[in-house]
Amino acid sequence: MDITTAEKIYRDYRRRLRAYSHAMGVMVYDKVTAAPRGAEARVSESLDVLNEASYKLEMSKELSEAVDYLYDHRDMLDAKTRREIEVYRRDADYVRSIPEDEYIAYMSLTNEASDVWRRAKEENDFASFSPYLQKIFDTNRKFALYYKPDCDPYDTLLDFYERGLTAERCDAFFGRLKEELIPLIARVTSAEPIDDGFMHAHFPTETQRKLSDYLMGVMAIDRGRCAIGETEHPFTENFGKNDVRITTHYYEDDLTNSMYSVVHEGGHALYELGSGDEYEGTVIAGGASMAMHETISRFYENIIGRSETFCRLIFPRVRELFPNVFAGVTAEMFYRACNVSAPSLIRTAADELTYPLHIIIRYEIERDMIAGKYKADDIPEVWRRKYKEYLGVDVPDDTRGVLQDSHWSGGSVGYFPTYSLGSAYGAQIYAVVRRELDVDAAIASGSTKAINDWLGEHIFRHGAMYDPDTLFRMCTGEEFSPEYYISYLKEKYGKLYGLKD
Ligand SMILES: [Zn+2]
Repeated sequence: MDITTAEKIYRDYRRRLRAYSHAMGVMVYDKVTAAPRGAEARVSESLDVLNEASYKLEMSKELSEAVDYLYDHRDMLDAKTRREIEVYRRDADYVRSIPEDEYIAYMSLTNEASDVWRRAKEENDFASFSPYLQKIFDTNRKFALYYKPDCDPYDTLLDFYERGLTAERCDAFFGRLKEELIPLIARVTSAEPIDDGFMHAHFPTETQRKLSDYLMGVMAIDRGRCAIGETEHPFTENFGKNDVRITTHYYEDDLTNSMYSVVHEGGHALYELGSGDEYEGTVIAGGASMAMHETISRFYENIIGRSETFCRLIFPRVRELFPNVFAGVTAEMFYRACNVSAPSLIRTAADELTYPLHIIIRYEIERDMIAGKYKADDIPEVWRRKYKEYLGVDVPDDTRGVLQDSHWSGGSVGYFPTYSLGSAYGAQIYAVVRRELDVDAAIASGSTKAINDWLGEHIFRHGAMYDPDTLFRMCTGEEFSPEYYISYLKEKYGKLYGLKD
């Protein structure tokens, strides 16, 4: 073997693997956007076949030998190829550590579990989903131990989504948030409520679609490379930087839900669209990590999208689309209504201030499930207890409780912390952006383009060329600290609710 041959083999396999993942991604996207419910069984069967074929390709001796050869000679590779091999090998090592039959069975389990979960949620039937959930947690624990027998399995799972993240770091971060946010939320909850009565009106889906188009325009998203669809759960999927799909869900009695889903997913899309051309088609295209992705999406959703300047910018168009609802409403009233904080049941609809507590609850449950502290059957009860304790809300049913999120059914255990970590990264990045850019003037000019450009230069274009910690330091010049996030929330909500220090 020589480097040229090894690289040729690697690139040829990658091209084929990419085609499989493209096909499977489009099938899943089609299943959740356009296909009738009756398609589920056939799609699952086809996905099983493609997954297995792709797995066999990935595990082939020829590819493994080429990758190992390149890895052993990585000092002789250019920086980009070297990084590709390091990133690719990290994932491949994990898959290689798992016995083939178990890996294939798990892919099939999560495909099936997603459908079972969807029905269980619709019918408030946790019992039907519980055995799947138990199996998913058990398998995740087992796989983590195959991969790193000497590590705490939950740390290994966290590390998949955010390199270097551990339960110890999460405990410190979330402990600090709980300390500051629980009393702050209590003060906000007992303060004079913000009037958002006008937000509880009827907002026809057809008109909300126009608002989505407008918002994607304000965010300067290239519609030639980014489409929008409708799903139960909003998400972003990308098939390369020239084909990004975002989705939203329209609720006719709630305008802000879809509005901020579009801004959130639009943030994910901007990150993908802004990835460097030189990385296209490689494993380093796209985002640096899940937390960096959530950093960007939550940055647009909250720090930008829920800012006074942004609300003032979009308000004329909102009023134009829903003239009867907003007849007597001012831009300031609209801004305040977009930032109402109230402890609630649903994570994705939670306001910026109470949101982290939804994540902390999921984090604590995941951590304790992997540690074997309880069984899937116990989760609904634990869920109810924690919602009462941290947010003071009663959970009336499992549909609005433990069944609300799709993550665990898809096998994502260890993902949730990235949302809050992302929010906190975002607050620290915002401090830097503000030093270098007049953010309010930029937004007031009509679009977020100047902000996109700043983030593009410092974050997007690098793809996954650097580990998230390194990229974060390059961007902010500092280590991560949760204090920026805490100060940001205290200042914003103190002002909105007239809290005196
Ligand atoms: Zn997101």
